[in-house]
Amino acid sequence: MSKSIKKIGVMTSGGDSPGMNAAIRSVVRTCAYYHVDCVGIYRGYEGMIEGDFKEMNARSVKGIINKGGTILKSARSKEFRTAEGRKIAYEKLKEQNIDALVVIGGDGSFTGAMIFNQEFGFPVMGIPGTIDNDIFGTTHTLGYDTALNTVVEVIDKIRDTASSHNRLFFVEVMGRDVGHIALNVGVGAGAEEILIPEENLGLDRLLESLRRSKRSGKSSSIVVVAEGDKIGKNVFELKDYVEENMTEYEVRVSVLGHMQRGGSPSCFDRVLASRMGVKAVESLLEGQTNYMVGLLNDKMALTPLDQAIKGQSKIDKELLRVSDIMTT
Ligand code: ATP
Repeated sequence: MSKSIKKIGVMTSGGDSPGMNAAIRSVVRTCAYYHVDCVGIYRGYEGMIEGDFKEMNARSVKGIINKGGTILKSARSKEFRTAEGRKIAYEKLKEQNIDALVVIGGDGSFTGAMIFNQEFGFPVMGIPGTIDNDIFGTTHTLGYDTALNTVVEVIDKIRDTASSHNRLFFVEVMGRDVGHIALNVGVGAGAEEILIPEENLGLDRLLESLRRSKRSGKSSSIVVVAEGDKIGKNVFELKDYVEENMTEYEVRVSVLGHMQRGGSPSCFDRVLASRMGVKAVESLLEGQTNYMVGLLNDKMALTPLDQAIKGQSKIDKELLRVSDIMTT
């Protein structure tokens, strides 16, 4: 273990996700285990520039493993995007004798960490915290599993009302430019159709699929739409188009929004966060820097931050095939 790292800063940055608190807890407790000091940095890079720090010990993180959101708060900082802002941040860290950073966030937060490392040689380690699962180098980002469970539960409820009224529901789910959430919840909730950016179904094929479903005796349908899907300009225009062309259906839209980012983390996310926090601190103490901790083949693995940022998380082709068969 490296003797040069005596104090580690931990922060959450960018959009929050369930499991961030469990990851903070893990980082803090791993530091305590190795007798390394730990400092919580509030509001991401913004708090770093302002020196909004708090010493943390094993007891400071009690009772948070099951809590959504992040006790350290999160923010987006314009100032950190400037060289002057990052210089101030560096000085604040040095004033506090902080030797290394664990950044829990998404690709933007990792870009900031990587630039910071290049400019000041400051050791950094990333933990992927986002519900979208859009980061290369891990099969699961923190919060993704919880979001899947939240969304499946909601779609089950929407189906109750859809089938009572013979309605067609378009349910828009988060995921930015990737369809991981849509594909998984679509399969998990038995959706009649799943629209994701990776596959362009096209409006004609969508109509054909809905007509086929109607002919086969289905009285209600759920179509899961990833927010980044390009089939219509937006989900409301999609609704208008289908209503014009399929008058037999009453169409409704449900945009799930930010509720997908909240809630108590699933057991999977709590365990993943615990493993990632340990790996992040141990890697820093071993002298590793500029990596992201991820889950690959059920094992903790390090991916260089630049690859994690630039690489693309691929949609699961096998699950796509399962989905095609299930929606027959
Ligand atoms: P999410 O996946 O939820 O969007 P994120 O980490 O990608 O999370 P961003 O808002 O993109 O969220 O980035 C978080 C913060 O990281 C920014 O507010 C900014 O302070 C810093 N950051 C992002 N890109 C850069 C960059 N190119 N240079 C310096 N700092 C950056």
